[in-house]
Amino acid sequence: MAPARAEILARAEAAYLGLALGDALGATVEFMTPREIAREFGVHRDITGGGWLRLKPGRVTDDTTMSLALGEAIINDRGEVRALSCARAFDAWMRAKPVDIGNTVRRNLVAFRRSGDPEAPPSEQDAGNGAAMRVLPVALASFGRPEAEVRVCVRAQAHVTHHNAMSDAACEFLALALQDFLRGDSLREVFLRRVQPLVTAHPAFAFRGRPRREYPSGWVVETLQAVLQSFIDVGGFESCLVDVVNRGGDADTTGAIAGMLCGALYGMAALPPRWLKALDPKVRAACSDQARSLLGPC
Ligand code: MN
Ligand code: MN
Repeated sequence: MAPARAEILARAEAAYLGLALGDALGATVEFMTPREIAREFGVHRDITGGGWLRLKPGRVTDDTTMSLALGEAIINDRGEVRALSCARAFDAWMRAKPVDIGNTVRRNLVAFRRSGDPEAPPSEQDAGNGAAMRVLPVALASFGRPEAEVRVCVRAQAHVTHHNAMSDAACEFLALALQDFLRGDSLREVFLRRVQPLVTAHPAFAFRGRPRREYPSGWVVETLQAVLQSFIDVGGFESCLVDVVNRGGDADTTGAIAGMLCGALYGMAALPPRWLKALDPKVRAACSDQARSLLGPC
């Protein structure tokens, strides 16, 4: 039996809040090595702000704010994912001087300002995690549509800044896995249907039988390896997020991606109350509101 909309909505809200919580948690230790984190925090497990961005406690970074900018654009287009609307929303977001911004995002948005073309040129180099970190609003807006349409929506959003096959593979995998979890599928089902085919098609993503991916870079392959090692081989909402951010490196982004997956799988009850309390209340409200609007009547 298909789950009721209320259940799907609760998982969608948990995914959006999970994204923000992982971002806020990981930002404190972004670009640190596991050894530096251990020396300074023992285990980093609370939302305390700080880090290289000197954030106030509970603040989020580009991973969450770009997602919210994208979500707003999709809502304004009544649930459609239009590349031009996405590009304009990201451009407005960049003009508002965000706390952080990726190099690929900046370069391709500057190019959009000049050309007016919302699709970045294909590039072997643009395999960063910047499109994957903000894929959630597209997964919610395209929930219930045929898989081929979901992939088209995912690429329209991603190609504004990252026109790259590995980024596409990661973004499509994440959107489809997130939708499976919203439907109530188990981790085992999603592992067989989404994770194994991803690794078969793109062996670079293999994460088992490999050393623990520590200090994951912004390369989407390393990001996803760290996320999958924590999400699948550690599991649990809090334990997964703590495990992934304590690897350091691009920790706000691994936290954000692990957070959306964990939220969709484990649901609202799994979100640690002390983390929710620490999260910027405006961000918390925006995530909840957008989850509801993006999902629509489904
Ligand atoms: Mn960030
Ligand atoms: Mn990051």
